[in-house]
Amino acid sequence: MESRLLDTLVCPLCKGRLDYDRDQAELICRADRLAYPVRDGIPVMLESEARQLDAAAAPGPA
Ligand SMILES: [Zn+2]
Repeated sequence: MESRLLDTLVCPLCKGRLDYDRDQAELICRADRLAYPVRDGIPVMLESEARQLDAAAAPGPA
């Protein structure tokens, strides 16, 4: 996925920046602890499709 595309993407919930997880092909919102899937290079920016991230898996202080 192009990084330029990533720059234009924001979380639909909090409008925050997203981190792209290349290994998992997911877009991560750390504020909401949600991971949006990227299917065939197309980001699926739907809360209903997003995966809930483990609090324990999040880096940094809680
Ligand atoms: Zn968010």
